[in-house]
Amino acid sequence: MDFNYLAELLFPHVTDTPADVEARYPARTLPEGAKVTRFAPSPTGFVHFGGLFPSTVGERLAHQSGGVFYLRIEDTDAKREVEGAAEGLIKTLAKYGINFDEGAILDENGNIADKGAYGPYKQSQRGPIYHVFAKQLVREGKAYPCFTTEEELDELQAVNKKEEIKNTDWQAEAEKKRAEMLARREFTIEEVEEHLEAGHPFVVRILASGDPEKKTKFTDLVKGTLEIPENDEDFVLLKSDGIPTYHFAHAVDDHLMGTTHVIRGEEWLPSLAKHIQLFSFLGFKLPKYMHIAQIMKLDEAGNKKKLSKRDMGANMDDYTRMGYCPEAVCEYIMTLLNSNYEEWHMQNADKPYTDFPFNIKKMSVSGCLFDFGKLNDVSKNIISRMSATEVTEKVTAWALEFDRELGEALASDREFAEKIFAIGRGGKKPRKDLATWADAKPYMGFFYDQFFTVEDQYPESFDKADIIATLEKFIATYDYADDMNTWFDKVKAIADSLGFASDMKAYKADPTAFKGNVADISMFIRVAVTGKQNAPDLYTVMQIIGKEKTVERINRMITSLS
Ligand code: GLU
Repeated sequence: MDFNYLAELLFPHVTDTPADVEARYPARTLPEGAKVTRFAPSPTGFVHFGGLFPSTVGERLAHQSGGVFYLRIEDTDAKREVEGAAEGLIKTLAKYGINFDEGAILDENGNIADKGAYGPYKQSQRGPIYHVFAKQLVREGKAYPCFTTEEELDELQAVNKKEEIKNTDWQAEAEKKRAEMLARREFTIEEVEEHLEAGHPFVVRILASGDPEKKTKFTDLVKGTLEIPENDEDFVLLKSDGIPTYHFAHAVDDHLMGTTHVIRGEEWLPSLAKHIQLFSFLGFKLPKYMHIAQIMKLDEAGNKKKLSKRDMGANMDDYTRMGYCPEAVCEYIMTLLNSNYEEWHMQNADKPYTDFPFNIKKMSVSGCLFDFGKLNDVSKNIISRMSATEVTEKVTAWALEFDRELGEALASDREFAEKIFAIGRGGKKPRKDLATWADAKPYMGFFYDQFFTVEDQYPESFDKADIIATLEKFIATYDYADDMNTWFDKVKAIADSLGFASDMKAYKADPTAFKGNVADISMFIRVAVTGKQNAPDLYTVMQIIGKEKTVERINRMITSLS
């Protein structure tokens, strides 16, 4: 067959040659060892936690090596496209420290624009480029047209799905598929001309040359050495609307854009054989690959399962709503990505995670387990090291969006709010009460009358009369001007007067000699003032809310108990 003629028939409008295109995408000049990585999402409306994984790896590897990190929007599947999704994605990623040097960016009007010399960075704008390479492959007899309607194609794809052939004879099914494939390869130029004249749509398929019995060794930088069978499937390169498949766009784009490391989800691993063949057919150097394991979570029964779209924590917007600070999420991701991150962090507590030498070799091969408990620990540590001013600002900003009443209360008197968040801050062992901004209200809402409720009951083991007596005695001697020691001496005196131990040593030596101890006396007062058995330092709480409110709340408790 005259492949040159066939190529002209199929792509009459394509006049550029691969060399012409290559000339527009010169090799990058970068320092030795610099990595060029990309994030290549197909934006569908929200950023999945799983997407932050490969993008963080790409960002770290590029920026750690003095390379380039770029964003390519893979919008070739018009059916899945969601209006505004790419814009939202760029904003969300930026919030989590994923900043691109090049690629699709947001311009000053908030629209997607290109930055860099290797664009366009939106695949939907790269149609003519793919056609040049498709034409070349046809010219070389490595690809061919297939006049199948989209419905027929969908049917074939359905057959590919394992579920559908689960109950049929595998061998027979495979032979049938092979026969279908070989039949597609049989056509004459005249047939092609007839189809084209009749306006029939066609797809372009690769002419697979591999023998799946033959396996080649391949090193994935995460998964290690793998045995990849050669590809023998005539997969589609261009769909009937002229739009490339993921496989074809991946090869053309990553080659032209100079990607050195392809970092993507492990769901692409089964397609690697196709990509190896395609790069070889196109005469492109194969990039290095890193296939990242999927994020797992434990279900109720304790079994590992994929973190699915619907799971809490899958959508990055969940974190904003729940009030996680992005630094915590970033650091948590680092702990998941590199097993030695935590150790490094302990030794370098003051350094940002971007100072950590990220190491591909320390990545998990089999998958990380998503766990809110761990995220909360990381987050509590981070928040405990923030200043009261910073915490006040961040809680207020979050609350104004997600808990208006709290937000307004905080914003109405910043100084007051800051005093609250200053409790237990600074020093070697700061308090770790907050994992999220949403934790603020249950922790400190009682400072505000509108949020104050008595949440905790007094334990039944105590005599009501002792509680009332404590509260009355406290009010009788309370002086706002007392320093902490004087204040506590008064509390101790109440303990002694009611048969509670003021000296813990004495109490421990013989607990049966007392009704309780000074900690119980403090608790009686604490529940009245804060509504809780556990709250920040009571003396400081009273200093912040003031004498009037303190006395009022204690009196109210006395009334309710009497
Ligand atoms: N658009 C592909 C995806 O979202 C990109 C995979 C890749 O990084 O090559 O899965």
